[in-house]
Amino acid sequence: MTAARYFDYAATTPLDPAALEAMLPWLGPQFANASALYESAQTAAAAIEEARERVAAAVGAQAEEIVFTSGGTESIWMAIAGVAIDCTSGTLLTTRIEHESALQACAVWRHLRTDLAPVDAEGIVRVEEVARLIRADTRIVSVMHANNEVGSVQPVGEIARICRRHRVPLHIDAVQTFGVLPIDVRRMEVDLLSVSSHKLYGPQGVGALYIRSGIAWRPAVTGGGQERGRRGGTTNVAGIVGFGSAVSSAMDRVELEARRTTALREALIEQIQLAVPDAILTGPRADRLPGNVHFCIPGVDGAAMVLALDARGIRASAGAACSAGSTDPSHVLLAMGLSPELARCGLRLTLGRGTTETAVREAAIAVASAVAELRPARSSLHAPL
Ligand code: PLP
Repeated sequence: MTAARYFDYAATTPLDPAALEAMLPWLGPQFANASALYESAQTAAAAIEEARERVAAAVGAQAEEIVFTSGGTESIWMAIAGVAIDCTSGTLLTTRIEHESALQACAVWRHLRTDLAPVDAEGIVRVEEVARLIRADTRIVSVMHANNEVGSVQPVGEIARICRRHRVPLHIDAVQTFGVLPIDVRRMEVDLLSVSSHKLYGPQGVGALYIRSGIAWRPAVTGGGQERGRRGGTTNVAGIVGFGSAVSSAMDRVELEARRTTALREALIEQIQLAVPDAILTGPRADRLPGNVHFCIPGVDGAAMVLALDARGIRASAGAACSAGSTDPSHVLLAMGLSPELARCGLRLTLGRGTTETAVREAAIAVASAVAELRPARSSLHAPL
């Protein structure tokens, strides 16, 4: 696969070469169970602590406030479950555009009601609705830092102020922003924050949860007492070391990469708008993830579009769940007020380190050609028999 034609960086990223190099010894001769007492195990434990320092520094936390997990989904589960687990009543407050991992982590607590804050037409959470929905018995507020489909960056500072006023803990799903936008848990006044390694050029299957020291939280994944009793399970030494390395590389270039990707994003938006004039740009123009381009192309099913682009060497995403060759209407687009028909027509192209100006031009040409191919097919499908 040509890296330059990969436009699905929001789904996963290629492994940073330095991270791979850092991981290799731990996958080979240096293997060890980091909980054991002998010297090689202690070396592994020290490598984990170094990675913890790196993750902590990148989010402005203390090392002991970072717990390693198997990824974003588990971090989000642990954050919400760790508060909900001791609640016999009350409500959870999240938003209509959260990732399924957060929506389901709330829904599983059937005796606790989940309130969903609405968003505006650009996919930005309505702060005044959060203020209206938060109650004396709200146990936790969980909001994503940026949406994975349409790239909308959320007003987490304002939401944090509401949570502080009501003394309700705030969890932020920062899976899409870690390594992309600056994060400082103290300045942002968040209590829990979830991140994932494979979105910032680290290995898959690793993530971390920041747990502010002193908050009322209890481990939901227990077992062998690893991670100071906060997450059971033999530690993924190689994965964590690779994650730590990837975090440092990402932090070294965060601003430069954001500027470069934003410029490429704007070029891609402009070229698609010129080539497909009725394509509807979805999500905000200003408060948008640097590498996110999302369109709804009327009459062109998202899954069919992804397959047509793949045939042209472009790897993209429909942004929403695909089943049996067609796209389910995206819950994010529905929450933004789009019709179910249009919400099946999402196309997400996400940019990253390997994206070039040439690749952007090729992607825009491929989108125009795929639309031309798919539209006649659609009208013949609907032609009277
Ligand atoms: N939250 C958001 C916003 C995401 O985009 C994703 C993954 O796409 C996740 C959570 C889940 O992360 P992971 O794949 O590491 O489990």
